[in-house]
Amino acid sequence: MPQPKYKTRRSKTRSRKAHNFYQQVERMELSRCPRCHALKLAHYACPVCGYYKGEQVYQVEEEEEKAGA
Ligand SMILES: [Zn+2]
Repeated sequence: MPQPKYKTRRSKTRSRKAHNFYQQVERMELSRCPRCHALKLAHYACPVCGYYKGEQVYQVEEEEEKAGA
């Protein structure tokens, strides 16, 4: 039976949503970037190198210098 919103405990709602969250993560389409072979979302520009379909879509700030400092 459906319950009114106020009758469902907040922890119950949140634990259910947390469970569904991991199913959504598993359902995400992941592919590898053809340029740097990093995991990325399908049909999205690569967050590592900023390339999509062989073209640079946006500049990615290099974080190697920041990690060393
Ligand atoms: Zn890439």
